[in-house]
Amino acid sequence: MTTPSSWIDEFPARIAELDHAHLRRRRRVVLPDGGARLRVDGQSVLAFCSNDYLGLAGHPELIAAACAGAREFGVGSGASPLVSGHSAANEALEQELAAFVQMPRALYFYAGYATNIGIVPALVGEGDAVFSDALNHACLIDGARLSRAHIHRYAHGDLAALAAALAQSPARRKLVMSDAVFSMDGDIADIPALLALCERFDALLLLDDAHGFGVLGPQGRGSLAHFGLSGASASRRVLYMATLGKAAGVAGAFVAGEDALVEWLLQKTRSYIFATAAPPLLAHTLRTSLRLIESEAWRRDHLTRLIARLRESLGLILRGTAWQLGDSRTAIQALLIGPNDQAMAVMEGLRERGLWVPAIRPPTVPQGTARLRIALSAAHSDADIDRLVQALAELLPNTRPTSAPRHPEPVI
Ligand SMILES: *Cc1c(COP(=O)(O)O)cnc(C)c1O
Repeated sequence: MTTPSSWIDEFPARIAELDHAHLRRRRRVVLPDGGARLRVDGQSVLAFCSNDYLGLAGHPELIAAACAGAREFGVGSGASPLVSGHSAANEALEQELAAFVQMPRALYFYAGYATNIGIVPALVGEGDAVFSDALNHACLIDGARLSRAHIHRYAHGDLAALAAALAQSPARRKLVMSDAVFSMDGDIADIPALLALCERFDALLLLDDAHGFGVLGPQGRGSLAHFGLSGASASRRVLYMATLGKAAGVAGAFVAGEDALVEWLLQKTRSYIFATAAPPLLAHTLRTSLRLIESEAWRRDHLTRLIARLRESLGLILRGTAWQLGDSRTAIQALLIGPNDQAMAVMEGLRERGLWVPAIRPPTVPQGTARLRIALSAAHSDADIDRLVQALAELLPNTRPTSAPRHPEPVI
């Protein structure tokens, strides 16, 4: 008699399936190695995979602030913010975040993922409707699923489709949600047009500015400021969310908007209420981070120049090839390669040359659009960009050689 097979014994085979489909993810153990460099397996590599867009994560003033914060507040917050976890440091940070993005009030979370999966169900539920760009970040999608609201997914950037879905929806509470800068393509959402639709159809607009905060807009105030939609021009229909582990160089996230809206989220967001508050030393550190984002404008200027340099020289070598550089003006530059195994091979070729650029594959991006996601940072130098372009030129398939090939083909 055979024992019935248990699903618990199937994991090795299921992992093997991932391997087979080139979908198995592996972690590397890393150490900082100065600037944009990381030490990986004993080797120093030049990294283009960090979202530390301003190069602040290792800033001496942030490190000093973290140490001072630990001494002043201890390490852990000890409890939910609604019990005893709302430290004076967290309170001060919230006020400074609200002032920084020029919105009435902000609520500080320990992580961006937890923010979005929590705030969407706090805003809408059964009988309501969510309208979501097809390329939105996973945590917005998961938040929408948790909410049990009806989900209308519209094609990336297709505002005509969004308008039609809004017009047809019988729901009274409508929530439009969008990444402000799309995390895998680097393009910026048409926020003024999204906002106009929200006005027209009485919807609330939730913007996830994980990749715009600190980088876009005057003083890095983010995507709303980039479009002149903050401060006096701010709309009460916008709920602005951003993360603090990317350009801000630390960890965490926040949501900002009208006072009553933020108060509602404080009352109803389960991932906020039933979780330990972010460590006050991080809030304390983030206050310094905000000051640096504002004062060290050269970081944004340098990043802007690096983006232009990369696009210009990559544009030249990609001409007439199958690879495509996405249409992005931000620090996220997608080099579309297509098949998973090819993207993996290019990533490996770069690794052999001491460069680390992650290949992003389905299901993170649509099938057939495996790509290299090149993330630039103010920590990079011009020479770093040139090295990357040179290495990519060497790895390009079927390029017409610009000089005589080393092994000339026999003439038939
Ligand atoms: C990184 C990211 C998040 C998650 O933020 P964490 O603080 O890392 O949890 C949310 N949304 C977008 C668009 C992101 O890129």
